[in-house]
Amino acid sequence: MSNIKNRDLMKLSGLEPLVFTPEINFVNIGERTNVTGSKKFARLILNGQFDEALEVALDQVRGGAQVLDVCMDEGMLDGVAAMQRFLHLIASEPEISRIPIMIDSSRWEIIVAGLKCIQGKGIVNSISLKNGEAEFVNQAKTIKKFGAAVVVMAFDEDGQADTYQRRIDICKRSYDILVDVVKFNHQDIIFDPNIFPVATGMDEHRKNAIDFFHATQWIKQNLPGAKVSGGVSNVSFSFRGNNPVREAMHASFLYHAIRHGMDMGIVNPTMLEIYDDIPKDLLEKVEDVLFDRNEEATETLLEFAETVKASDKKEVATEAWRESPVEKRIEHALVKGIIDHILDDTEEARILLKNPLKVIEGPLMDGMNVVGDLFGEGKMFLPQVVKSARVMKKAVAYLEPFMPKVGDLDYNEEQSSIKKILLATVKGDVHDIGKNIVGVVLACNSYQIIDLGVMVDAQKIIDEAIKNKVDIIGLSGLITPSLDEMVYVASEMERQGLNIPLLIGGATTSRIHTAVKVDPVYSGTVIHVTDASKSVPIAGESISEETKDAYHKQIKETYRQLRVEHEAKQQVKQMATYAEAKANPTFIDWEHYEPIVPKKLGTTVFEDLDLSILRSYIDWTPFFSTWMLSGKYPKILNDEVVGKEAQKLFDEANEMLDRIIEEKWVKAKAVIGLYPVQRVEDDLVLPENGMSFHFLRQQGKKGKGVPNRSLADYIHPDQIDYLGGFAVTAGWGIEQKLDEFKESGDDYNDIMLKALADRLAEAGAEYLHVLVRKELWGYAENESLGNDSLIKEEYQGIRPAPGYPACPEHSEKRTLFDLLEVEKNIGIILTDSYAMYPTSSVSGFYFGHPESKYFGLGKIGEDQVKDYARRKGVSMEQAERWLSPNLAYSPSLNVQKS
Ligand code: SAH
Repeated sequence: MSNIKNRDLMKLSGLEPLVFTPEINFVNIGERTNVTGSKKFARLILNGQFDEALEVALDQVRGGAQVLDVCMDEGMLDGVAAMQRFLHLIASEPEISRIPIMIDSSRWEIIVAGLKCIQGKGIVNSISLKNGEAEFVNQAKTIKKFGAAVVVMAFDEDGQADTYQRRIDICKRSYDILVDVVKFNHQDIIFDPNIFPVATGMDEHRKNAIDFFHATQWIKQNLPGAKVSGGVSNVSFSFRGNNPVREAMHASFLYHAIRHGMDMGIVNPTMLEIYDDIPKDLLEKVEDVLFDRNEEATETLLEFAETVKASDKKEVATEAWRESPVEKRIEHALVKGIIDHILDDTEEARILLKNPLKVIEGPLMDGMNVVGDLFGEGKMFLPQVVKSARVMKKAVAYLEPFMPKVGDLDYNEEQSSIKKILLATVKGDVHDIGKNIVGVVLACNSYQIIDLGVMVDAQKIIDEAIKNKVDIIGLSGLITPSLDEMVYVASEMERQGLNIPLLIGGATTSRIHTAVKVDPVYSGTVIHVTDASKSVPIAGESISEETKDAYHKQIKETYRQLRVEHEAKQQVKQMATYAEAKANPTFIDWEHYEPIVPKKLGTTVFEDLDLSILRSYIDWTPFFSTWMLSGKYPKILNDEVVGKEAQKLFDEANEMLDRIIEEKWVKAKAVIGLYPVQRVEDDLVLPENGMSFHFLRQQGKKGKGVPNRSLADYIHPDQIDYLGGFAVTAGWGIEQKLDEFKESGDDYNDIMLKALADRLAEAGAEYLHVLVRKELWGYAENESLGNDSLIKEEYQGIRPAPGYPACPEHSEKRTLFDLLEVEKNIGIILTDSYAMYPTSSVSGFYFGHPESKYFGLGKIGEDQVKDYARRKGVSMEQAERWLSPNLAYSPSLNVQKS
């Protein structure tokens, strides 16, 4: 790459750049956000269900789209308005707006409307010579002014190019005009030389694919800088309704088009079949058609397609798979997650292969590789993968007694080809669902996982890494104090001379934090991993002999650039002084407000909350996202892509819930307290015992009339007012069941139980909040809201949680726990980093004022931190450590001394 100048590359961007380096083989343009191509998307847009439509976009991104095609060309639609609305929504979803947008329309006004909305550098799809040169030039000039790239259709005054010669003639003519007349950047020109259907039965269509391939090659060789794209699903138009054949055609077409130079294509990334996986008989017939190899090619494929269709339907047939050879049976059991026969099959394989290790490295690993690939391609979903892993573990556990002992030479030698990854949740943190999921996904891709569990201190991580000669270390953490701990682990790895790639993951971690805080303290490769599915390619690239050096350089450079950008942003960020911020609080008309005295002051303890009541308060949407199925409940159950899997997961979750309740697997306990408080600036003091809570205030410069909020604003400034606190857990006694699952290697039920206990704890928080509003505090006695309205927070008052955006400082939990005597009353404990254990616990404050709402603190200045340290009676360094994610400046001390 170094010998190619940067300006010779195509560069696009959403929030992140997409540079067409030579290493990029092919760029997927997600096609499902197109009203002409997707019935579902069209329906959602026409019904005004833009939020659901947004999820389609998210699915495309998560499924691997690197550019998103958005099309609103539909007769019944105000295309301009729809385009604007949808693009604005996308802009508010960083996960989507990360990637460049392709504004797809045949109407110029929609394109212009789109160009005004997108951030970064997108693509216009498309313009052409259809209405002559003058219009073409004008439109190209406008696009150039907006800085976008452009797709040019092979279309002129005489119509669409349908032969090789017309394709190249029109592209050449368009290119010359763009380059010579409009002075369009060569690198911003993309040709779409028309992908037309083949196997239509019409002779004039027989050369459609070959002509496209050849035109592509000609363009790449003769029009410098220009790229080639196209809408791939067109090619298989004749086989609508027969997905196996269509997918095979797409995969084969792409394979050959890319070899001829195609750079990008509009595809459904979640459906892409792998070329090598196309059954050979089908592939041969598909390619006979694509390359027009004989007169009968179309007829033969049409006939064959009927059989493919038929056998596709038979898939649900009975236990036919039991008839196949043992390797195939093991693969089938792994892919389908069927545990019933795995012990018999494993034993049979062990006898057949005469060596237990060969069973693991042979059929079991092979099967898991199939699973890993299918997951990587978006054809399997997480719950299925976790079930596959369960089958694998059961088989391995069965084989273990037959294996040579660890330490035995043979064993070690045989093992040495397998890469090892150490995973740990860092000291002070107890959350591990995410880490366990990453472990399962990596294990499906032939990594050996050494999982040190939760609350692991830095030295142990380092010692185990050295002892086990691991290839990668992965750190996980959920709460913000874990960020600092990760920095510390990295700095210790550096100090002790390690050079193992370090993966950083977990809810509060971020690319920017990794770049700014972790990367600088460790000279080895450090990579932030956004989700489990990304861990596989990242792990692969960071350790493979061929790629690791280049990858190291590239990632170090990316993070260095991020730091520079971050630094630049810091400097332009306008901050108010803490004094100015305090002078601009939330406006509340206190003169006409009388604080409402709670009906029951002091603490109330709930020893054993009724789980069947809590169950009805569950918000299911986050449950599905834990399992990496995206979509809102209940709609997700009917989702086109994940619906079937979601429904199955939901049924199994409910079966487990039945058992949790009937067999009392866990207990839910809670404590609530309501107290008089006196406001002293941004502190709330309890007159009865002198304890105080310290709140923080937004310090970003606000527009006219926009306050610098602090939670303290919701308490009467000079009269006694009231504040509540609560802690609830649904994890009491959970260990016993979790141990059982761990014992039998059952990750599926382990993750399921943890996810459900989390849901019950949140449901508990919801239920108690209702109780507080209607009875214990009683300021909303007549409230009557269904679960949907509760989830949408349509009630009066809030329950902000320490560690969350309005009050991000975790150590306040200590005061809250002391006040409510949480440990004594219900047994939740706080770790060094203020994580709650059992994990399935929630705690927070109650504010009852009708004006109170959630907000994010954002960045704060040194003046406020200083004041905060004073109010809390801690050192400045301590306060800076606690508040590090929110600091608007770089404190002198970065790394924690343990
Ligand atoms: N129904 C969801 C609710 C969890 S997230 C579920 O079952 O998972 C919402 C909770 O997070 C709120 O109840 C509140 O306790 C906390 N929260 C959300 N936004 C917050 C903010 N900006 N500041 C403080 N706490 C917040």
